[in-house]
Amino acid sequence: MFNRKAYEMGAAPNQIRQIFEYGRQQSRLLGEDKVFDFSLGNPSIPAPEKVNQSIKTLLDTESSIRIHGYTSGVGGDLLREAVAKNLSERFGVNAGMENVFITCGAAPALQAVLVALRTEKSEIIGIAPYFMEYKAFTEANGSRFVLVPADMEKFQVNIPALAEAVSENTQAVILNSPNNPSGAVLTEETLRAVAKLLEERSAQYGHPIYIIADEPYRELVYDGAKVTFIPTIYRNTIVCYSWSKSLSLPGERIGYVYVPEEATDSKELFFAVAGAARASGHICAPSLIQRAVAESIDCMPDLEAYDVNRKLLYGSLTEMGYDCVKPDGAFYLFVKTPGGDNSVFCEKAKKKNLLVVPSEPFGVEGYFRLGYCVSKEMIERALPTFREVLEEMQNSR
Ligand code: PLP
Repeated sequence: MFNRKAYEMGAAPNQIRQIFEYGRQQSRLLGEDKVFDFSLGNPSIPAPEKVNQSIKTLLDTESSIRIHGYTSGVGGDLLREAVAKNLSERFGVNAGMENVFITCGAAPALQAVLVALRTEKSEIIGIAPYFMEYKAFTEANGSRFVLVPADMEKFQVNIPALAEAVSENTQAVILNSPNNPSGAVLTEETLRAVAKLLEERSAQYGHPIYIIADEPYRELVYDGAKVTFIPTIYRNTIVCYSWSKSLSLPGERIGYVYVPEEATDSKELFFAVAGAARASGHICAPSLIQRAVAESIDCMPDLEAYDVNRKLLYGSLTEMGYDCVKPDGAFYLFVKTPGGDNSVFCEKAKKKNLLVVPSEPFGVEGYFRLGYCVSKEMIERALPTFREVLEEMQNSR
């Protein structure tokens, strides 16, 4: 006897991982230069030197007992204070360390918030295309996941569709900007429209409808795109953040939940998040990386390499005849599948060792995702293959 939902989640194949594993196998067989793997969202720029230096210095100067010991369950004071100061200075909010809960990355942050918001009939809205774990986490926690398709022109929120989906059971809407997989950044106009709708409905139903702002890509934007910090527009926003992408530290598992003081029942909500994290065993994030991040909190990623890749891939693919919206952020390109049939396209691509992720796990059909957090050389080598697959698709019509 097992927990059925847990079993199903564990047994279900993770499509992205499967593609990645296939790529590794093919690389071993044929040589790395013969495989073009765009499947993963693993940062390809190194963590800032400051982080590595901090780790070295901490190991040399701190007591081993302390630096490898537990911090408080909610996270150490140093990192919580550093986050609060950073958010207050950058976004003009009034954050204190009591509003910050340190987690082992953005995924456990989301998980804790979703458990904290669960009620008997709770519904959580996700905007497709969305990060696939939203549905898995929501359903595993016993809430209903409600999918609202984005406006597919620019991947902004489709406000009429959202208005139709929000009900008295809606506990939260998850927004992810910059977005995985589309790379879209939600405009201030979009966010104000979402805020207006949720304020009206919260008043109508007599309970707050929260925005869960999933922001691991907050710092990854190009051409001066502006990422609006949603709590400055909508007070009932809960921020889930990690340094997985911004400081290239995905393996270190470090992030936070920020519950603004201005949110309805802020203190109780914070305790509910802390309780949810405790119930899943996700407290006391690793001490060493907490300290190193606290010292490096003002570091910004050097996005030059991603930007070069973004321009190269977007420019080359659209020139060939592929159709996609130019991404303003993150490190993904979300491309319309030529001919529309994803399974045919992805199979043809896979046969040529061009590994892309079909869009179905992101909640939409007829697209594929490319992670351009790869080397520029690999993109250059892959371009003729993109052209070949496109031509095969065109000729088979
Ligand atoms: N949210 C989005 C949109 C992501 O793309 C990811 C990871 O790729 C996560 C959350 C999880 O981030 P972390 O690795 O920090 O748990």
